[in-house]
Amino acid sequence: MTTRPHHPSSAPMSPTLHAYSNHALLGHKLALLRDRRTQPARFGQLLKEISLMLLSYATADLPVREVPVITPVGPTTQRVLAKRVGFAPILRAGAGMIPAAHELVPGAPIWYLGLYRDEETLRPVRYYDKLQGYPPVDIALILDPMLATGGSAVMAASRLKEKGVETVTFVGLIAAPEGVALLAREHPDVDVYVAAVDERLNERGYIVPGLGDAGDRQNATGADDPTDEPFVPEMA
Ligand code: URA
Repeated sequence: MTTRPHHPSSAPMSPTLHAYSNHALLGHKLALLRDRRTQPARFGQLLKEISLMLLSYATADLPVREVPVITPVGPTTQRVLAKRVGFAPILRAGAGMIPAAHELVPGAPIWYLGLYRDEETLRPVRYYDKLQGYPPVDIALILDPMLATGGSAVMAASRLKEKGVETVTFVGLIAAPEGVALLAREHPDVDVYVAAVDERLNERGYIVPGLGDAGDRQNATGADDPTDEPFVPEMA
């Protein structure tokens, strides 16, 4: 597990886990995101803000090459990305992380993967997959806010590797220990970047305490009516 000096992780459960549980600003945004009273529009905005931060960490060590650059002051060399990077959002919830991907790596291919969880078996079922014929990428970042059972992440990583992707990375917001363990067991080469690792899964496969259903929270499709009571203070 990476322990960046300014925001070390506190959950040593997998060598490929990068959990920014002690990051002050991520924690603040996560509190707002978790709160059941946070409205869908604000939820989507927070999802984007947190994704931007995590994607920046997840891309910090990508392979680079030197190129010459002439600044107004003189010539220099600068490192630029040496490999083709793409994103694989898992529908539906991962769609909320796409604006961050677009903003951070404009023009990168976005490979949508539609996976839903069978409510009885809790196993992932693939319902949308058009990876055939897409431009090749060397590095793919799977985007899914919740790493719960890990079944979807394992299926997505397998599919991307089948398509010839050399390096697969998972970027999510909240993980359950069960999902981290399954992904590490099935794909020990896949690095995992999350803002928090929560306690456990409940019997319905939801992360506890988590944030509920990340797809419903973004799209206002949950059974509970969101309220508009203010709670965790917004930034001054
Ligand atoms: N998917 C979600 O949206 N939330 C969970 O807690 C688990 C899976």
